[in-house]
Amino acid sequence: MYKCNSSRLRGLIEQFSQFGATANGGVTRLSLSKEDVLARDYFCEICIELGMDIKVDDMANIYAILPGKKECPPIVMGSHLDSVEKGGRFDGVLGILTAIEAIRTLNENDIELEIPLMLVNFTNEEGARFDPAMMSSGVIASKFSKEKMLETIDKNGITFQEALQASGYAGEQGNRLTEALAYIELHIEQGPVLAAKQRDIGVVEGVLGMVCYEITVTGESNHAGTTPMSMRKDPMIVASRIISSLHEQLSKIDEALVFTFGRMHVAPNIHTVIPNEVVFTMDSRHQNPAVMLKVEKLLKGLASEESGCHISPVKLWGRETVLFDAAICNEVEKSCHDFGYSFQRMFSGAGHDAQYIASFIPSAMIFVPSIKGKSHCEEEETTFEDCAKGADVLLETVLTLQKKFSMGEKYTLNS
Ligand SMILES: [Zn+2]
Repeated sequence: MYKCNSSRLRGLIEQFSQFGATANGGVTRLSLSKEDVLARDYFCEICIELGMDIKVDDMANIYAILPGKKECPPIVMGSHLDSVEKGGRFDGVLGILTAIEAIRTLNENDIELEIPLMLVNFTNEEGARFDPAMMSSGVIASKFSKEKMLETIDKNGITFQEALQASGYAGEQGNRLTEALAYIELHIEQGPVLAAKQRDIGVVEGVLGMVCYEITVTGESNHAGTTPMSMRKDPMIVASRIISSLHEQLSKIDEALVFTFGRMHVAPNIHTVIPNEVVFTMDSRHQNPAVMLKVEKLLKGLASEESGCHISPVKLWGRETVLFDAAICNEVEKSCHDFGYSFQRMFSGAGHDAQYIASFIPSAMIFVPSIKGKSHCEEEETTFEDCAKGADVLLETVLTLQKKFSMGEKYTLNS
């Protein structure tokens, strides 16, 4: 077993937090921005120093390849260098930096690889500059059309295509990741579970399925002073009743079910006017499709009329639960055992590049704890000790897979 060098990893994390550093200890490193390009340049410089070859595809995904003795598809590690506006120093970048530390540890121990290793940086994972999130892993996994993605614009009217050209990282479609023996992404948990349970590592079995509904309640506007209560068609009152009733019923379905009424629009949104329309969303997530069906049944079963108002629920979008490769998850768990690190099997409530890559490469994720569960903010924090434990588990898992693959073992995709 090889242990990574935690102070070297800490130095690397501190270096990368300079790219787009904010006044309060976070980073703003929007995809393909000047700051992102600086981080990309430095990433390539380090990988070249480590003896890796760099390739870039047409979505500006960067691949660094360390050759092995065998000519075969690689084992891939990676994540993303971009951040949200005023985000933290760990989200995404940690998956790349722990992989760099793993490769440095291999190099200093003169470990010869049978199977090539690849390190990938996916472009625009956050979707903070260009919508949608996980754009480029989504394109190479055929979830999104590249042509449509090229046309998306940021808030300054710059298209993704223009940003791509300006970045100097527009590469060849032929360089896309199409085949690999495994993909492993280390990431911060972005939630409070590991920290609360005092576990070192999350063995991530998949990404929660989710649905998002938009519910429109239509009533009738009128004067707030002159209309008697009995003569109103007030969609705000009806919306609030629906929300509290859904809250009560959804809470009974399953204790692991999460749901959020996150957005609400009130029209005309004037304090002297009874609203004529209230539109709100309900986002709900759970790993079990049967539970999600119950959620949808509740939404679809809402009464269409109440207190003179019309109610119409529309499904905005949904995603099926993504299951990661069970055999790779087992190897991650075994690596935790080998080091004596405590772990927790869990699902990710947030989306990650791995969920798209899992559609064509056997994949898994490793989580490290987020202090107070904070993420997508400047207070995002993971101890350097936990980062190093994550790097140890990542390296050990990759080495085990190396051995198994070079002996001809194949892992199959979960259907
Ligand atoms: Zn991330």
